[in-house]
Amino acid sequence: MPTSEIYVTKPKVYLLGRQQVVSEELKRFLDDEGLAFATDTEIPAEILNEIAGRTCYMSFGKGRKSNREYLENILESKHGSVLEHAVWNLLITGVSRSLTHELVRHRAGFGYSQLSQRYVDESEAKYVIPPLYQESSELLELWQKAIECARKAYAELAEATVRYVQESHPEIPARDRRKWARQAARSVLPNACETKIFVTGNARAWRHFLEQRGSPHAEAEIRRLAVEVAKVLRQESPNLFGDIEITNGADGIPEVRVQHSKV
Ligand SMILES: Cc1cc2nc3c(=O)[nH]c(=O)nc-3n(C[C@H](O)[C@H](O)[C@H](O)COP(=O)(O)OP(=O)(O)OC[C@H]3O[C@@H](n4cnc5c(N)ncnc54)[C@H](O)[C@@H]3O)c2cc1C
Repeated sequence: MPTSEIYVTKPKVYLLGRQQVVSEELKRFLDDEGLAFATDTEIPAEILNEIAGRTCYMSFGKGRKSNREYLENILESKHGSVLEHAVWNLLITGVSRSLTHELVRHRAGFGYSQLSQRYVDESEAKYVIPPLYQESSELLELWQKAIECARKAYAELAEATVRYVQESHPEIPARDRRKWARQAARSVLPNACETKIFVTGNARAWRHFLEQRGSPHAEAEIRRLAVEVAKVLRQESPNLFGDIEITNGADGIPEVRVQHSKV
């Protein structure tokens, strides 16, 4: 692989899933209960959140008129459990294992499926350049040297380990031999190794992630990811994420600012 293809400088976020409303079932519920309900948003996550909130007080057809007003009140009053009914599925690539180590600390409201270094051969893996090394060619060169050593070490070790397992454990099926070898050899892979992770999160969980990881105190690479996620979610639901701003960071990496903290 040419050197330029080995290194990654920024995360990619693919929006793979969003919700939909089953209109016939909504109508059936409203008819059964003798209720009228109309809203001015067409975004399913926003409709579902409004319905969830209105179910608490059976306030269909009453009170606040627009969906924005309704959800703004939910955010302001920190009735955060309502936000758990809105869900998005993102596939994230171009991030390092050190980033995902931080990402998966976010437990509440998230589901994760991540590339397995036990199953996947990482000899051809890419490496994520930490943002700070992207601004200094001198440091970048030193960093690349270190990565090159680790890549070679992994490739040699993985190959030698497969041979060793083949000879010393011939009873093991070939697929398991490779797994044994990779799970041992991966111990020398650096934190910078690129990974891919499928993340499902609800609006409350995403908001908490954006607030913590988009803050100036967060590590630079994950902050960069938080900014990309914020862009996607603001576009997806202006009424659930409209209070989230992207501003310039002192270190040149943008930050995320949340008006309604920890809803
Ligand atoms: C700038 C920064 C620096 C950090 N530094 C370190 C570090 O040095 N070392 C380290 O280990 N981690 C560190 N972390 C990770 C941090 O401690 C959290 O693990 C991570 O940010 C996830 O936050 P959370 O637990 O609030 O999120 P989630 O796990 O998603 O939880 C969301 C919320 O749900 C509630 N909740 C979740 N689980 C429980 C529970 N079991 N009991 C009660 N309430 C619960 C809490 O209100 C919590 O805030 C750092 C995070 C940041 C942003």
